[in-house]
Amino acid sequence: MNQPLQSKVAIVTGAGRGIGRAIALRLAAEGARVAVADLDLGAAEDTVATLSATGQEALAVQVDVADRAQCFALAERVLARWGRIDILVNNAGIVQVKPWQELTDADLDPTLAVNFKGVLYCCQAVAPALEKQPGGKIVNLASIAAKTAGTAFVHYNASKAAVVALTRCLAVHFAPFAVNVNSVCPGIVDTRMWEYLDYELGESQGLPKGEALRQRVARALLNRVEKPEDVAGAVAYLCSPNADYITGQSINVCGGMYLQ
Ligand code: NAD
Repeated sequence: MNQPLQSKVAIVTGAGRGIGRAIALRLAAEGARVAVADLDLGAAEDTVATLSATGQEALAVQVDVADRAQCFALAERVLARWGRIDILVNNAGIVQVKPWQELTDADLDPTLAVNFKGVLYCCQAVAPALEKQPGGKIVNLASIAAKTAGTAFVHYNASKAAVVALTRCLAVHFAPFAVNVNSVCPGIVDTRMWEYLDYELGESQGLPKGEALRQRVARALLNRVEKPEDVAGAVAYLCSPNADYITGQSINVCGGMYLQ
């Protein structure tokens, strides 16, 4: 494979499984050294083992992105190991199905802490390193849930809309350093997160297993479930020099499920 990310150092949060894992594998395949950061250290180590087996340099780091100090410790670990940071992919995220009328602090706090504060804290932590040389990239995992409406998980929708807003604001900050900040907005991706959503939405609507997912996938023009690798391809593009003139954008990667 062409290696446009040769000599680059990337941090991918939530890279122990799902979309984050696919992103870590893709960035490594394009030449980057990858810090695989996850709350679940065993899962992070598993991704690193997969990379190491093919001779790619990688580092597993346990981090809770909701904890600001841990985000700064993550950046320190990576700098101690490789001396630079070029790419940050803020992928770690959580979702919870619950009627909006019943949401309390116990629901809102973790969702906003991981999905919004985690993105902000990781950006804060890598900023001094990214500002040292032009060409850095930040890619945030938002969602088409940031742009569409529903009532099953409004706190998730709101957290992802906050990521879209933050992406624009940080694009303003980083532009003088020639560092690009963008988001991707996936649709219905075949991961553990959607396994959970299919179960919960199915339960609440009396649907058999797989039906909630199938109904939503049918809204995608490309008419198939999205794979983690579909997202990883778009993220890799945004991390490459091909995307040097793209910043502040939140790009839909959803098979045409949402068209604006
Ligand atoms: P997933 O649940 O399969 O994996 C999430 C990973 O993040 C796990 O490895 C988990 O351990 C890690 N994680 C969770 N909380 C963390 C924390 N506090 N600190 C560090 N790591 C943490 O999810 P996924 O489907 O791969 O989703 C990845 C991202 O893509 C999320 O931000 C999600 O909101 C977004 N997204 C997913 C879909 C989808 O359909 N699956 C669609 C749009 C956006």
